[in-house]
Formats: sequence, structure tokens, C-alpha cells
Amino acid sequence: MMLHMEGVHAHYGHIHALRGVDVTVQVGEIVTLIGANGAGKSTLMMSLFGKPGASSGRIVFDGEDITRVPSHLISRRGIAIVPEGRRIFPRMTVMENLLMGTAFADPANFNADIKRVYAMFPILEQRASQRAGTLSGGEQQMLAIGRALMSRPKLLLLDEPSLGLAPIYIKRIFQIIRELNTEHGMTVLLVEQNAHHALRVAHRGYVLQHGEIVLAGTGQELLASEEVRAAYLEGG
Ligand code: ATP
Repeated sequence: MMLHMEGVHAHYGHIHALRGVDVTVQVGEIVTLIGANGAGKSTLMMSLFGKPGASSGRIVFDGEDITRVPSHLISRRGIAIVPEGRRIFPRMTVMENLLMGTAFADPANFNADIKRVYAMFPILEQRASQRAGTLSGGEQQMLAIGRALMSRPKLLLLDEPSLGLAPIYIKRIFQIIRELNTEHGMTVLLVEQNAHHALRVAHRGYVLQHGEIVLAGTGQELLASEEVRAAYLEGG
């Protein structure tokens, strides 16, 4: 088991954003969280980093209880996040952005790691010395994913990777997620508004509503579920 969240509650002041969620991610799985705006998807991901921390419940990652581990130590344990909105450094070059992803990794691995990222995203090698802010939205998302991979994570968290991208890039990003999993064995937890794409790529999914898991199943089961279709797939 890669990740096991057990009865996790989290608050922002008086807002009770997670209400006892149970989520598991097995090694080698793609798991997706779907749900409406404000359902708690980002909060669930960020709770792994203690932002906000779990007010009760337990989070076990790779066999160790990380519920109270300070957020700056979580990356070193092997969890990397590609945050919503990508948050690349626009004035830095593409290569400098990738370098930022190695902050906690062994610098001796830099050359091998950057080669791996360039092999996966040749466009980043072509643009290595270009300022990241000049990349298209889709390229910036690839850069954000590449940067996260530089720390050699065991678990990759992707928060709304398709948000705001042109349709051609949306397709490409989901292809990349699938390739990361099948060719590189990456375990992925994916938050998406784009439920249709997410459930097609995921082995399993959870539906979050008002901070609670209301439905869980395989990607196929959730795609076929009347409840999911009505609430999240209409028009999609
Ligand atoms: P979205 O797709 O809009 O990001 P989400 O499912 O990721 O939605 P969260 O961002 O996790 O939802 O929000 C869950 C709840 O917590 C919402 O009620 C939201 O308003 C609240 N919330 C989120 N971030 C904060 C914050 N920094 N301070 C206070 N309340 C917050």
C-alpha cells in the first residue's frame, strides 16, 4: 500500500473541509478524486503536506505514519505535488525550473534525472534555456510535471493538471499521465474537474462531496454510475 488515509478530518478555521475521509492508493495505481468546486479535493491532497493538517484520523505513507510529519519533510519521504495553476517560475529558464525540483534530491543524480525528464518531454530540452513564462500553457504543465519528477517521487500528486489548457494539450496531459504509470511505474493521485478524462485514465476513483467520500469504485464503475453521470459527466 502506498497511501492510506483513515478517517481524516481537516479544518480551515471554522470550515470543516474534510469530514472523515478514507482513501487508499496501491503501489502502481492511478487514483482520481472527482467532485464539484469546493468539495475538498485540493484540501485532501494538501492534508498530506499538513496544510491544513489532519485534526483527527491517520495518514500512512509507504508504511510510515506521516500524519504529524512537518510539511517540509514530506517531499523527502517521496511525495511530489504538481499544484493547481502549475506555479512554475516564469522568469527562470526551463532548466532552472527543473533544477528547483531537485531541492531535496541528491545533486549527483541531476544529470541522469534531467535526461529522463527530457526524454519524456523533448520540448523541454528544446526550450531548456528559454524563460518558462514564454511557454504555452500545455508546455508549462509539462514543465511542472517534469519538475515534480526531478525529486524521484514514489507518489505523484496532480491537482487539476488539465485546467485551462487547450483541448489538444488536455489530451496530451492525460496521455502523459498514462505513460508515467504504465512505462515508468509511477503511482498517481489525480484531482480533476474533467471527470470523464480522469475516470478513463484512472484505475479507481473517489467522489467527494462536502468533504466526504460519497462514492468509490473503479474508473469504469464510476463512469457507468448514474449518479456520477448526472452530477459530473453531463455534457462531458
Ligand atoms: P476546487 O476545485 O474549487 O479547488 P476543491 O474540491 O479542491 O475545489 P477545496 O479547495 O479543497 O475544494 O475546498 C474545500 C473547502 O475548503 C471549501 O469550502 C473552500 O472554500 C474551503 N477552503 C479551501 N481553501 C481554503 C483556505 N485557504 N482558507 C479557508 N477556506 C478554504
